[in-house]
Order: sequence, then structure tokens, then C-alpha cells
Amino acid sequence: MDRLTTEQRSRVMSRVRGKDTTPELIVRRIAHALGLRFRLQRRDLPGTPDLVFPRWRTAVFVHGCFWHRHPGCRRASIPQTRIEFWRSKLARNVERDRAASAALKKAGWRVAVVWECETINPDTVRNHLLKALKQARPREVRRERGS
Ligand SMILES: [Zn+2]
Repeated sequence: MDRLTTEQRSRVMSRVRGKDTTPELIVRRIAHALGLRFRLQRRDLPGTPDLVFPRWRTAVFVHGCFWHRHPGCRRASIPQTRIEFWRSKLARNVERDRAASAALKKAGWRVAVVWECETINPDTVRNHLLKALKQARPREVRRERGS
């Protein structure tokens, strides 16, 4: 029913695993178009968020639906071979995400996740970003320089 074909799956996986970070690029482009100032992959932050909006103290992860288990998403079905292997591997990913998110929140960051499947529709991403940042308050009203 909601199973991906082998072909679809390998497409999803190669997209997520490889150098091709299309969903992330889409989110960056949209954030840029909105005039939002952000930084990329701050390794000093838990989980290395894909985009960081320092002024809004908001960290954004762009997650592949399969690897990060987008709840209820058809891209997040479990492969039918080596089921146990996949279950534990994917559970570890989810646990890691949860730990990173908890650590960020503890450090005073807001955390938002944009799912790979959402990046198909730029409006969805735009609304998602705006909503996430709207909940946050700019740290400073004045324009930051380079900080
Ligand atoms: Zn999804």
C-alpha cells in the first residue's frame, strides 16, 4: 500500500545519502529569498543543525524522511529485507535527533524540522520557516553585524 518500490527507495536513499543535498538547498534558497540571515551547519551546536538563525536563536534541521523517520510519511516505510537491521539503525537516528533537539532547547535554542517531502512545495517551506521564526523573538532589534 504505502510501500515504496525498490526504484523509488533507491532514489530516495541516494538523494539523502549522497552529496546531492537538494532539500537542504531548497530551504536555504527560500530562507535567503525571505531575507533571513542564517548560518550553515554550526558544528559547535548539538546535531550540527543545517541552518541556524542566530538572531532568532532558532536551529533548523532539514531531515530526510526515510533516515529520520518522518511520522506518517510514506517515504519513511521500513525496507522489507533485514527488517531488524533497519529498525535498530533507524531508531538510533531518531534517538540522536531527539538528543540533539533536547540539548539545543536546553541551551536556549528553538528547534524546527523541515522534512524532505515538504521541500517539494516551496510555499510549505516558506510558511514553516516563517512560523518557526515568528514564535521566536529576535534577540536584538537592531541589525547585527557579522556576529
Ligand atoms: Zn516526509
